[in-house]
Amino acid sequence: MANEPEQVRENYARIAEGIAQAAVKSGRDPGDIAFMAVTKTVPPELVNVAIDCGIRLLGENRVQEYQSKMEQYRPGIPVDFIGTLQANKVKYLMGHVRLIHSVDRLSLAQEIEKQAARRDMVQEILLEVNIGGEESKSGCTPDALPALLQETAALPHVRVRGLMTIPPPASGDRYLKAMQALFEECKAHPVPGTQMDILSMGMSEDYEAAVLCGSNLVRVGSALFGARAYPVR
Ligand SMILES: *Cc1c(COP(=O)(O)O)cnc(C)c1O
Repeated sequence: MANEPEQVRENYARIAEGIAQAAVKSGRDPGDIAFMAVTKTVPPELVNVAIDCGIRLLGENRVQEYQSKMEQYRPGIPVDFIGTLQANKVKYLMGHVRLIHSVDRLSLAQEIEKQAARRDMVQEILLEVNIGGEESKSGCTPDALPALLQETAALPHVRVRGLMTIPPPASGDRYLKAMQALFEECKAHPVPGTQMDILSMGMSEDYEAAVLCGSNLVRVGSALFGARAYPVR
């Protein structure tokens, strides 16, 4: 049974071990790689099982689903927002999420700036890159990234902490490597006001390959919790 607590415990142990081995292979400390549990469609009780195993970061896709579940999660575990985000929903995330991974356009960053300024806080974000150039996917093109980085860096209540991507499915490590190169390029030419230290890359199918390509935050859903009952988009 995919959704049993015992299965989640086994999955957690296997995935954590895989991440740790990939970290060591790529010359890093396993403790430097964040293992995010992606919670979409997962009942809060099962999310809490993952937290009891050692998960220290949750990833939410949908504002409404998050609002309906947040009170039921074990307290004190940081939550990141990783889903497609409409500007009019930004205000519901402020003060609740640690990091917004899915900023792919200036207008969205400007709304985050406005809402963060109103609360006298700085919201940390990642810029999402559509590394495979897929028409159906969100994310800015690699070509548009330098300008978006400059523009978002200038927003005083927004801090860019790195990059996020969802590569095309079953594409091997070609796009993972392209993303690694892009991230290294950004770090080699730092834009004042940014702090490029997070590469959010790798999901259930490719978390080990992603860590081998420099990712330090993997977002794992179905490999941890079992197949989702219905597709999310
Ligand atoms: C659903 C989702 C994941 C996790 O996907 P799995 O393949 O189930 O691990 C990771 N990142 C984002 C942005 C997602 O929407």
